[in-house]
Amino acid sequence: MRYDYLIVGSGLYGAAAAYCLHRLGKRCLVIEKRPHLGGNLYCESIEGINVHKYGAHIFHTTSKKVWNFVNAIVEFNRFTNAPLANYKGNLYNLPFNMNTFCRIWDDVKTPKDVEKRIAEQQSVIKKQIGDREPQNLEEQALLLVGKDIYERLIKEYTEKQWGRKCTELPAFIIKRLPIRLTFDNNYFNDRYQGIPIGGYNQLIDGFLKDIPCEVNVDFFHSTYHDWRNIANKLIYTGPLDQYFDFVLGKLDWRTVSFHTRVEPMPNYQGNAVINYTSHDVPYTRIIEHKHFERFGTEVYDLPTTVVSEEYPMEYQEGMEPYYPINDEKNNRLAEQYRQLAIAEQDVIFGGRLAEYRYYDMAPIVEKVLNQFGYE
Ligand code: FAD
Ligand code: UDP
Repeated sequence: MRYDYLIVGSGLYGAAAAYCLHRLGKRCLVIEKRPHLGGNLYCESIEGINVHKYGAHIFHTTSKKVWNFVNAIVEFNRFTNAPLANYKGNLYNLPFNMNTFCRIWDDVKTPKDVEKRIAEQQSVIKKQIGDREPQNLEEQALLLVGKDIYERLIKEYTEKQWGRKCTELPAFIIKRLPIRLTFDNNYFNDRYQGIPIGGYNQLIDGFLKDIPCEVNVDFFHSTYHDWRNIANKLIYTGPLDQYFDFVLGKLDWRTVSFHTRVEPMPNYQGNAVINYTSHDVPYTRIIEHKHFERFGTEVYDLPTTVVSEEYPMEYQEGMEPYYPINDEKNNRLAEQYRQLAIAEQDVIFGGRLAEYRYYDMAPIVEKVLNQFGYE
């Protein structure tokens, strides 16, 4: 047999798995249907700036093991995500913290003031739902931060992002966001955070440097579909339902269209991420890519900048599947597919698409280290 593993997909899961297996002496071949390696981490150089082609990616983790593993491949900078929200022309800090609260409520100055104000607003929703658990995102958000913040910073943004009413979305989505009674605009609570110096391609190229890779090869439309002729095992990181030829039906996804342009100025918005939380603006956020790599680089000396507007939309065939939709119908269908996957001999289903789970990058690395890691 020519290979121990055929790996379908060169995203973070496929690339990190190939790296670990190669270190264990296994022979791997990676195939990728896109014209480049790296999956959603891929960066395109435009005007000397690393543009996050598939959306802003900030690496963050609590795990020292994961952090050391990726930093052994490429050093990370000290970028800290501190997005702003623009609601009808007014700017607010995210995540919800003392800076946000003081801007929303003029008379609020201390954590105690905030607790009092949120408690007043909470009492309204508590009266409505009593002791039961919040049953949707709207109830959850009202319980967490009250009506004023919900209406300005959550409701319309969430409806644009998911294309569904907040009353039809699961409560857990909003629990991702920290709420702090300190003046701290760091979007994440994790101990480690940053962006690879030189961009994410450095990380992927580092993982794959000694491994044969073929791009522009779609597993389903190539001779590799008969993989048992060339490899002992298959690692599959494409969409779960597609592997089984959609036999149980199609899983739904949410996708994003990125409108990227060059602006003739060194600094367009002064921050990497600005969310637009009102329905008046059709996109959810504007990313200005050069801010991701500002530390110790000459990026601000460049006369131009590159920005991307993000337009979320419902996935249709031919688009990129980005976010799994974790409603009841899709969770049930994904579980049925996972049962089929368990029965597939010598096939490992890994990553965001093949597991139909919304993983951040660090949990993907952690999974790979647990599955194929070495000490
Ligand atoms: P992917 O990157 O999707 O890789 C799968 C690869 O398989 C793709 O390259 C695909 O082309 C290839 N493939 C699929 N089918 C086939 C086939 N038939 N034949 C050959 N190749 C195939 N995480 C964070 O930690 N921080 C962030 O800030 C962050 N921001 C994000 C923003 C957006 C808009 C999105 C969508 C995700 C974000 N993530 C973020 C999550 C992050 O992108 C994922 O954790 C990571 O990309 C998952 O890697 P993966 O290898 O599972 O999937
Ligand atoms: N969210 C919001 N307003 C914001 C940012 C986020 O209401 O300005 C909500 C929205 O429902 C979103 C969820 O919080 O889906 C999680 O946000 P996060 O930025 O973690 O989502 P990502 O786009 O990174 O998956």
